[in-house]
Parts: sequence; structure tokens; C-alpha cells
Amino acid sequence: MNERDSEAVAAQLVAKGYSLAPAEGTADVVLLNTCSVRDAAEQKAIGKMHGLAAEVRRHRPNVVLGFMGCMAQSRGQALLDRLPDVDLVVGTQKFHRTAEYLDEIFSGKRNKICDVGEEEGSEATIREHILAGNARTRSVTAFVSIMQGCNQYCTFCIVPYTRGQERSRTIPDIVGECRELAARGVKEITLLGQIVTSYGKREIGVRDGRSAFVQLLEAVHEIEGLQRIRFTSPHPKGYGDDLVEAYGRLPKLCESAHIPVQSGSDRILKLMHRGYTRAGCLAIIQKLRRIQPRIGITTDIIVGFPGETENDFEATLSLAQEAEFDNAYIFKYSPRKDTPAATMPDQVPQEIKEERNQRLLNVVNEIGAGKYEAQVGKCVEILVEGPSRRNPARLQGRTRTNKIVVFEGSERQIGQLLDLKIHRTGSFTLYGDPAIVNLDIDNSLSQ
Ligand code: SAM
Repeated sequence: MNERDSEAVAAQLVAKGYSLAPAEGTADVVLLNTCSVRDAAEQKAIGKMHGLAAEVRRHRPNVVLGFMGCMAQSRGQALLDRLPDVDLVVGTQKFHRTAEYLDEIFSGKRNKICDVGEEEGSEATIREHILAGNARTRSVTAFVSIMQGCNQYCTFCIVPYTRGQERSRTIPDIVGECRELAARGVKEITLLGQIVTSYGKREIGVRDGRSAFVQLLEAVHEIEGLQRIRFTSPHPKGYGDDLVEAYGRLPKLCESAHIPVQSGSDRILKLMHRGYTRAGCLAIIQKLRRIQPRIGITTDIIVGFPGETENDFEATLSLAQEAEFDNAYIFKYSPRKDTPAATMPDQVPQEIKEERNQRLLNVVNEIGAGKYEAQVGKCVEILVEGPSRRNPARLQGRTRTNKIVVFEGSERQIGQLLDLKIHRTGSFTLYGDPAIVNLDIDNSLSQ
């Protein structure tokens, strides 16, 4: 989501006549978009700003330095007070005002600006895209922000305080953006929201047994030229029967689901204020696998939440084993200011968090490796995205189940759906050879 917000701000600045600098050392404006979900991310952003002040500002005193996003929102004016080199602080509902504020600073109208207010309609302001144009780097996939904010108030999470209450864009507005992207050559769209499955709950509601989110998926599915749809980040509670059933009914909806379970212990889930149980999560996974047996399932897990005992942690280990996730993002609990969990008793010592993190990682990696191994010898459909990140001489794409596949190919294949035969695996990467160049979508081979 932060990448998407940054891209939209960059596109808005480009539309106003700015151009993207190749490196921060040559830029007239350097804005750091920040995350507050864990303390480490905040410390990294502050450290980076100190570095910019020392390196860039020293040589080019007129450079404008700024913070945007969640840390800007939660710390506001304190950032200007604490870091005298910072000129601009733009909150999460004000990204679209960045160009206007830069104009004011450059024209000398204002010296320093901090705006972290609420703004009605801001959910519909993240819509501009920078799509790379040349054959080698052309954009095949895009993120589309469908809503802002979060109403879940999980006890560990700072997001409702930094992103505000849930506000959703309209279906026609989102479809319009997706249609434009498809017309510009984008083949795959990922719908984005803090809790994407809560989309339009208040504004649109349930119709004919379908949640607003499923109605949106159906509308995006109609777009000609678009070949794949994904979404992130959902909440386990959002996987109602209507969404599960959509996986069997909407061929463009990729067989990939992120189910952030957070913990395998019902006691901890209750303390986290998650609103579901371990059994509930396993039931969702079972339903999804019944409707799409090869679906790729990933998760988020927090280790060391306050009060987590060895027994609770073992329940998480056993959930990971039972659910057989394709991959998991594991986080060590990080106390966040003003969230209920930060002051809960029995905070878990750092060394226990580290140890649990490693034990869980071992289990997740072993199961993941088995899932990737099982792909060897199989034919998978990938959407070719562009040069491989590790070795730009090769190409990479993703399976419908969201696994990266690297292969030897040619530039003209970028943007195509291609069938590959997998011949080996690396760490959470597959390696393949073109089986048949497939210009039509052939779902019979889809994985
Ligand atoms: N849709 C997600 C959900 O169901 O909660 C929310 C995405 S959240 C912004 C990304 C992930 O960050 C969460 O799933 C959680 O695992 C992790 N996270 C959030 N707050 C955290 C904290 N205080 N410490 C460690 N990890 C945290």
C-alpha cells in the first residue's frame, strides 16, 4: 500500500511538471513515505532522514526534505520539531496535497508545512499511475487502492489511528481506473485496502447475498483485456461463502488467498481482538481448498504477543503445520504507542520473540519448500512481468497461485500468459522452461 501511495504522489508531481530523479543525491525534493506497523520501520525512516540531512542537505541546502504516510500522521509536528532539516510532513489523508505544498515551499510562501488533518473524499485521491513504457520494463501489473482506513482495532495494531476510519471508493470509480489501466496494457490488477474484504460495508452493503467486495470483484472481472485479479490485504472474517464461491466462479480471480491468522491460540486471538477462532480459520482454508484444490495460501503471524506462553506458541506451530501455508510473513510483536496491547501485562522478552520467530520460520520454510518441490515437473501458467530481480538477463513471472517463476525468455514475452514446465526450485522461487508459447488463456493448464 505504501508503494502504491508513493507511486500516486510521484505521478501527481510528474503531472505538475516535476521529473523523477535517478537518485536522491540529484533530487530537489526527497520524500520518505513511512510505515508505522512496527517500530523498526519508524527507526529506519528516521535514520534515513538523518542520513539525507547529513549527505544531501550539506551539498545542496535548497533541497526539500519531507515525510509522508503513517509515521508522518502519528508524529506530525513533532517530526519538524525534532528534525530541523525536515520541511514537509504530509499525513495519510493528504498525499494528494503534496504538489500544492511543494509549490508553497518553493515559492517562499511558507517555510515548513505539516498537514495531518482528516479530509473527506481522500480515499478517491490515490488514482494516478506511473506505468513504465519501454518493452523491457513495461508495466504488466498494477495496484489499485479501493479504500482507506481500518475499523478493526486489533489490540496490537496502529493502523486505525494512522489511516483513520474505513472509507471506500465507489465501484464505478474503481472500475474506471482499472479499465484505463487495462487499456494501457496492464494485465493483472491487485485491489488494495487495509482490510480489503471490508470494502463498501457501510456505503454499498450486501446485495443478493454478495458482499460489496464480491460485487466489486464481479465488476472488475468484466473488464476486457484484464486477465488476472488479486487482492490484499484481507481479514479472515472476510472469507464468507460468497467470496469462497467467487474463487470457483470468476476465472480471472487468481487461486491465491492471504489469510492473516496472527496466532494459533484462541486465547491470544481473543486478546488480539481478532474476532475468529483457530477452528474458524482452518474451516476457511478447507473450504477454499475444496473449491480450488491447488490454491496458494499465505498468512501473517505475530510471535511474542503479550501473555503468549509456550503452550500458546505451540498452538501457532501446530496451526502452521495443519494449515500447510505456501508461505508466511512472521513478525515479532512490536509494541505500538497508544494501542491496548502495548500496556498489557506479561510482555514477552525480546530473546523469546527471537527464538519463537526462528522456530516458526523453520516450520514454515520446511512446509513451503515441500509445496515448491511438488511443482517440479508440472506445467504452470505464468504472467510474464519483466526481467528477474536477481538476474536481469532472465525473465520472471508469477503463477496464478502467486509463486515467482524465473526462466530464459525474450522481451517480447513480457505481458504474455505463458505455460512453463518447472524443472527446479530455489528458496520460494521456481525455475521453468517454456512448454508451449500460449497466446490464448488456457485455464486447463493453470496452477
Ligand atoms: N489485513 C491484515 C489483518 O488481517 O490484520 C492487516 C494488515 S497489517 C497492516 C500487516 C501485518 O502486520 C499484520 O497482519 C500483522 O501480522 C503485522 N503487524 C501489525 N501490527 C503489528 C505489531 N504491533 N507488531 C508486529 N506485527 C504487527
